[in-house]
Formats: sequence, structure tokens, C-alpha cells
Amino acid sequence: MHMATPSTRRPTQVTEERETRASERSCVGCRRASSPHDLVRIVAGADGRVALDPKASRGGRGAWVHPARACVEAMVKRHAAERTLKVDVQRDLDAGAILAALRDGLRRKVLSLLVVSSRTRTMALGAEAVAASLERERVPAVVVARDAGSVALSLAEEGSDGGTRVLRHATKAELGSVFHRGEVALVAILDTRIAAELAVTIDRLAALED
Ligand SMILES: [Zn+2]
Repeated sequence: MHMATPSTRRPTQVTEERETRASERSCVGCRRASSPHDLVRIVAGADGRVALDPKASRGGRGAWVHPARACVEAMVKRHAAERTLKVDVQRDLDAGAILAALRDGLRRKVLSLLVVSSRTRTMALGAEAVAASLERERVPAVVVARDAGSVALSLAEEGSDGGTRVLRHATKAELGSVFHRGEVALVAILDTRIAAELAVTIDRLAALED
């Protein structure tokens, strides 16, 4: 095998790339390799049936799949998880149920990130407070309810010039219930790390809802 290595590449870069490749897993749906962080682990439960292992903490053989509709549907159709896990083919394995469980997990994660933001007082709630935050400081992300009006949306999008991510999620009533309020159309997330995690989680939810 002939492999050309650019002479300008520093040894440290080579090492980093090798480490990345070694830790990658193959999605049983689309067969593409990804970091385990971008995949969900699947295991065989005690009953021999395919089960989600969202925290990737269970022992034994595992299969990995992108938390995306197309990958889960391909996995179920080809019985790729059963093959990888070396268990009996499940004719009744339900892609819809797996997708629903993945969505539930992601929604719970969004909820817990919003609660953490609230407890650590790194958020602004409602149009007035969000507008004030956008004027005062760098806001990493604003969550905009899906049923928010155009005024609320354009308020959040104004901030996107300064690097604010606009994340569409939930309804005004659902966001309100998280914070024991009536309806909430806008939530500014002021902590960079929480904002980044929220963005990834909400993007994944969107991939499941396609
Ligand atoms: Zn995939």
C-alpha cells in the first residue's frame, strides 16, 4: 500500500489523527464512522432483545447508530443491530419506538439543561429580559419557542450578528411550564458550555423529527 505523508506535517498532528480514528465507531445504519459522542449505543438486553444504552454504560457487545431517522430505519430494515449483537433477528423491532425513545431522551436532556441554566442564574426569560441581555452582553444562544411570533424571532435573530445561536424548540406553554410561568417565547442562555450542549441536543432532536 502506498501512502504519501506530507513532509510538513508535525508528528503531534499524526498522533492526534490516529487517536481520533482509533476511537471511532461505525454506524450500523449508514456504515459511516463517527466519534462515539455522535452515536447512540445499542445492546442486547437480558431478554436478548435490542435495547438502547444511551449512557453507553452497559457491558457486553454493543452496536452504534447515529441518532437520526434514516440511520435507525436502515438499521431496523436490515436487522443490522441484531447481526452485530449476534442475537436472533427481531421481526417486530420497531423503528418508530426506537426513534420515540431517542426523542424522549433528548427532550429530557434539553429540559435538564434549561433547569441548570435557571438554577445557576445564567439565563434571561421573556422578550424584555432577553432584549436587555442582548444589548448588555455576548449571548451564546437564545431558545425561541416554535410558536413564538415574528417579533420574538426577529429579536433573537438580531443577536445572531454577534454570534448568538437561535434555537427553535418547544412551544411557549412548554417553555413556560419549565420555569413555572405562563407562556415563555424567548430564553437567553448565557453560559457558553450549556449553550453549546443545548445546540447539539436540539439539532439532534431536529434530525429525529425530519
Ligand atoms: Zn448513520
